Amino acid sequence: MTTTRIILKPGRQKPVQRRHPWIFSGAIQQVAGAPAPGELVAVQSHRGEFLAWGHYSPHSQIRARLISWREAVQPESADFWRARLRRAIDARKPLLASGQTTACRLIHAESDGAPGLIVDRYGDTLVVQLLSAGAEARRELFTTLLAELLAPQRIYERSDAAARYKEGLASQVGTLYGPAPAAPVMILENGLRFLVDVQAGHKSGFYLDQRANRQRLRETVARLAASRPAPPTLLNVFSYTGGFAVYGLAGGAAHVVNVDSSAAALALGRENLALNGYAAARVEDLTGDAFEVLRQLRAAGQQFDLIVLDPPKFAVSKRDVQRAARGYKDINLQAFHLLRPGGQLFTCSCSGAISADLFQKIVFGAALDAGSDAQIIGRLTQSSDHPVALTCPEGDYLKGLICRNLS
Ligand code: SAH
Repeated sequence: MTTTRIILKPGRQKPVQRRHPWIFSGAIQQVAGAPAPGELVAVQSHRGEFLAWGHYSPHSQIRARLISWREAVQPESADFWRARLRRAIDARKPLLASGQTTACRLIHAESDGAPGLIVDRYGDTLVVQLLSAGAEARRELFTTLLAELLAPQRIYERSDAAARYKEGLASQVGTLYGPAPAAPVMILENGLRFLVDVQAGHKSGFYLDQRANRQRLRETVARLAASRPAPPTLLNVFSYTGGFAVYGLAGGAAHVVNVDSSAAALALGRENLALNGYAAARVEDLTGDAFEVLRQLRAAGQQFDLIVLDPPKFAVSKRDVQRAARGYKDINLQAFHLLRPGGQLFTCSCSGAISADLFQKIVFGAALDAGSDAQIIGRLTQSSDHPVALTCPEGDYLKGLICRNLS
């Protein structure tokens, strides 16, 4: 039995009993037994009752991440973790069953009961992120279990997210299992082909969380195309490697304009066009700062039937909310100016610190200032392979609105 324990202050056990998976430093009365980073610890109330098992993170404000509330089973064995990983992997089977999609998030950290562990599948390649001291301490165990459960060609580590620094961990990147990736990996998503650069791409290589929203855009384009004399045009802002662009073309868009500050992302986007058989002339790439490019498009009198705004996380923490809100307001204001009457805006925020309610208020303010008579006709969220544990609403980060411009 482990002897290391975290003893909470009086009155601080409620969230643990309600199965929230984080113990903040301010809730702790005493850490008994000098646990090492990532070590399994028992969490107790101030009266000494057992509450949960967790992994110790000495350098983070989140001092322990909880994995089990059952005292009898110490959640440390390979069997425990095999069952936990298998549960998450099995839940994604329906998504992959048709063979039309070969990439998804298999394990989504706290939301799947595996704090700090993210595993994305890109065809036969798995990309792993270890983002907490507890996950870091189990690198070998997780690698062995993932190899056993999924028999991938390779497992590649991309533990270079900012979350590592809060845990006192340096970034770590490289091959954990199998051969090193020689080139971008090809995946299928809803029958469309994409190249994913798992070594140098953003996050683990692709924005898997937008899959359902990309599909929604494709369906919207197809419906608009069927109901109008001329096929719709699409402005895809913060395009990365052109995910929404390829889906837009698949839905029947006549022409797409991609905007991104990363020339490398846009270059891979051009390969994605060719891979799906779309003529290069149907897409124009604008490399630059979206805040400026949108103004230039407006000055040039351009208008679009569909606009996607999928910016990076403007608010990293609560402190950034005001500044981030100004950024969201600005790009949405520009987008409403660029949207044709009858057109639709898909506008997103992946900032956890910006609530869905606040985001809607920001978009409202933007439409008002643009003089657009707009209405909400749909809501967007992260794809189902990025679930939100009911016990941990903090996992609900991606929100978006589909707005129709009536004016
Ligand atoms: N919609 C994409 C994901 C977008 S991620 C998809 O479906 O795959 C956000 C993108 O914004 C990144 O590609 C990043 O390079 C780009 N970006 C960040 N800041 C930017 C800025 N100020 N102007 C333009 N692009 C920016």
